[in-house]
Amino acid sequence: GGEREKLTYELFGRAVRELARAVADDGYEPDIILAIARGGLFVAGGLGYALDVKNLYPVNVEFYTGVGETLEMPVMLPPVPNAVDLSRKKVLVADDVADTGRTLKLVHGFCAEHVAEVRSAVIYEKPQSLVACEYVWKRTDRWIDFPWSVEPPVVRRQGQVLES
Ligand code: 5GP
Repeated sequence: GGEREKLTYELFGRAVRELARAVADDGYEPDIILAIARGGLFVAGGLGYALDVKNLYPVNVEFYTGVGETLEMPVMLPPVPNAVDLSRKKVLVADDVADTGRTLKLVHGFCAEHVAEVRSAVIYEKPQSLVACEYVWKRTDRWIDFPWSVEPPVVRRQGQVLES
């Protein structure tokens, strides 16, 4: 129905442990967890503790609408992870949701050129996702309310630009 999928912080705590359990049971031992900011930072932190992985890297991805462009596509913003840091590493990409899957496809593609192996872990995956994540806590076709973004910011900032 039109009901939203609602994730609370408490449920998130359980979800991330179960997601880590799936990774561990599968025998995947990542050297690095790449966190897709911002939602993926929560997931990566939880996975990092649960899988005893201390190497966490943030990756900033922004949906960019070019001037006069009708197509929207995600871009990785600097600083991008150093190719040397990633070479021959087993990587786990962490995000909150694979919706269209375009964000994960971008990061996955970037990794594929640099790393030994890359797999993805998400709390939610939607049916239309371009990327089939190896580890998914729950599948849904609904809009998800995440605990970190369900409420508006406590302050409004205008004209904020991410800098390189
Ligand atoms: P993508 O379409 O590339 O898989 O997802 C892009 C981003 O859109 C996600 O990382 C997330 O920030 C946002 N997004 C997609 N689906 C949902 C949703 O159901 N709920 C919320 N809160 N954000 C979403």
